[in-house]
Amino acid sequence: MALVNEHFLKLPGSYLFSEIAKKVESYRLLHPDRKLISLGIGDVTRPLPPACIEAMHRAVDEMADEETFRGYGPEQGYDFLRDAIIRHDFAPRGISLSPSEIFISDGAKSDTGNIGEILRWDNTMGITDPVYPVYVDSNIMCGRSGVLKEDGKWSNVTYMPCTAENNFIPELPKTRVDIIYLCYPNNPTGTALTHQELKKWVDYALRNDTLIIFDAAYEAYIQEADVPHSIYEIKGAKKVAIEIRSFSKTAGFTGVRCGYTVIPKEVTAATFEGTRVPLNPLWNRRQCTKFNGTSYITQRAAEAVYSPEGQAQIREIIGYYMKNAREMRKSLTSAGFRVFGGINAPYIWMKTPDGMSSWDFFGLLLEEVNIICTPGVGFGPNGEGYVRFTAFGRHEDCREAMERIREWEIYKRIS
Ligand SMILES: *Cc1c(COP(=O)(O)O)cnc(C)c1O
Repeated sequence: MALVNEHFLKLPGSYLFSEIAKKVESYRLLHPDRKLISLGIGDVTRPLPPACIEAMHRAVDEMADEETFRGYGPEQGYDFLRDAIIRHDFAPRGISLSPSEIFISDGAKSDTGNIGEILRWDNTMGITDPVYPVYVDSNIMCGRSGVLKEDGKWSNVTYMPCTAENNFIPELPKTRVDIIYLCYPNNPTGTALTHQELKKWVDYALRNDTLIIFDAAYEAYIQEADVPHSIYEIKGAKKVAIEIRSFSKTAGFTGVRCGYTVIPKEVTAATFEGTRVPLNPLWNRRQCTKFNGTSYITQRAAEAVYSPEGQAQIREIIGYYMKNAREMRKSLTSAGFRVFGGINAPYIWMKTPDGMSSWDFFGLLLEEVNIICTPGVGFGPNGEGYVRFTAFGRHEDCREAMERIREWEIYKRIS
């Protein structure tokens, strides 16, 4: 008899986005004539940059020719891409890394979800709340999160609330934790940390011997000068941080699949007896055993993101989304809502009016103005009372949604 991994049975039943889809679908069935606008999903809508398309076409042609055909590539990724990453994402910021410290992957979700495999199951962990669900769920799967308590929190997880009251800047945990996940610029709140604020976390990690897993999937959206693009801009971070990046939001690769993880040679964890072990070779071994590399065609496309044309094209795409974000911030603010984020990230985090719950407001917005948002509580207990809007839609849709909200007379009714 095969026994199941019972930790999977502890996973919360319904996944946020399927719950939303269900509610939207039943509304659509009852009101087939209404035009719904989705500002809910976290997926890009602009097509791939032409530089990437051209690179992929060239790579496909190489695959068609015996002379240039490529089979299995290095599990860690091709040097042409690892070199381009170092040259463009790190060297200009004064961060020196070697190619062996970069691991190319099929995206940041896999890496953030899998990285826990090289760490003992009984480490304590800290997350910001609200949070990208992968960090908690992947830890539930291996038993690291503990058990679900009545307040909706996991017994072995330290929650660091991010709310309007603390301006979405999490407080350092009062007791020490072994592993901390940070995502900046943040999904779902759309907020960022300044250099000085991030430094507090690196200093905490150095003081407490904590490992930081830093998800920088939205790095390319940073607009403000004092927001660090990489955690390694902070002194000492190479000792305590793993950084994970993605081409998904940077260059529209959500359907192409490419990301990378940086594990500096200096990052270590301890054995139970106290011996320090570098994590880089462990991850290398894990990848070589369980991963056979990102496709050559995809890696050529990712390399093209760093060409002068590619850089100009991604700046234009990101500019397109950030224009949505600016208009949304402006419209929602003038409609009387309290909004956060949307300056260094393509997400707007909005307080519901009059203390309404996330799901109640989601329902009201769907029924009265036919707009789909994401209930904040789906990202964690401290997301209650907020909703998330994404700026990934088309301009026209975004503008129409904002017009509908401006004309919506919700405040007259609830007050
Ligand atoms: C979208 C997103 C990712 C990217 O995941 P991929 O697997 O690279 O598409 C990673 N982290 C966060 C917080 C995200 O929102």
